[in-house]
Amino acid sequence: MISYVTVQSLSKSYDQKSVFSIPSLTIEQGEIISIVGPSGVGKSTFLRIMAGLEAADGGDILIEGLSIMAKSPQQRPVVYMFQEALLFPHMNVIDNVVFGLKMKKTRKQERVRLGLAMLDKVGLQGYEKRFPHQLSGGEKQRVALARSLVLRPKVLLLDEPFSSLDVALRRETRRWMKQLLKTEHVTAFMVSHDLEEAMATGDRVAIFAEGTVQQMASPQELYRQPATAFVATFLQSGIWTRDQFIATNRLTYTTEKPVGDARLWEAEVMESYFRDADYQLLLKLKNNQVITMTAMVPLPIGTQLFLTENVV
Ligand code: ADP
Ligand code: MG
Repeated sequence: MISYVTVQSLSKSYDQKSVFSIPSLTIEQGEIISIVGPSGVGKSTFLRIMAGLEAADGGDILIEGLSIMAKSPQQRPVVYMFQEALLFPHMNVIDNVVFGLKMKKTRKQERVRLGLAMLDKVGLQGYEKRFPHQLSGGEKQRVALARSLVLRPKVLLLDEPFSSLDVALRRETRRWMKQLLKTEHVTAFMVSHDLEEAMATGDRVAIFAEGTVQQMASPQELYRQPATAFVATFLQSGIWTRDQFIATNRLTYTTEKPVGDARLWEAEVMESYFRDADYQLLLKLKNNQVITMTAMVPLPIGTQLFLTENVV
């Protein structure tokens, strides 16, 4: 059986400097894939290559078994939604929503019918005559999503779609959007800089780092079976040692060197601050790895600590 989307040996560099090299990814129809990773790792570049806005150096992307690489952005069954809603300020909501259909020469009556139906789905019935300046940030995002979905793309690409919204609205908008994408059975890639958002929205999460995709798996699997040290320490604070991960909640610290032959790690307090109900310690290990731990009391910066694994 062929996968809905296949990415094969995709590589990209700028000015001889490699951005990434991705061996192979397969995505099923209707899946939402969240993409997270450090800034500058190539998340936007990956989406832009899918959209045809940027050329890859090598490799292939197939949708339903057919390569899209030779196609122009307009010919691809893909829609790229930018961070900012980027609505046309001089056009009202319905004209914004059906703009792409107009470009595709859909007949006026038909495109208005499709546009209004889509506005309904994004919860903006009655908004068709408003102009962008009469909309809130969240409403603009809904219009932008309606404008994308009305084109019935095979793949929807979302680049940090909620980054212009405040925290409460982000949560609400992401829940609502996930529900809509699921009922419409949309296959989507969504870049996020927020791990919680990525985990809450994606069926699977692809972690981009160090020039490749470290792992693409369900949130549970990423936690239970992190494929690399990067994934383990990206998801939760802990020590990666000899292919084994020890989360910080399984560690105890002492200021005196413990007696006995238990494995121990030396650490230095870099920062100590109060958050939630505890003090948070930012610790630097001898190998320069930085971890966070909770503590009952604040500790002065520079304090030397000894960490041991809790006995179970
Ligand atoms: P992310 O979205 O993960 O933050 P980007 O995909 O925007 O990262 O960028 C990946 C890398 O490619 C960065 O180092 C960035 O500086 C570089 N880059 C992006 N676009 C260009 C370009 N048009 N020309 C040269 N370098 C670029
Ligand atoms: Mg980006």
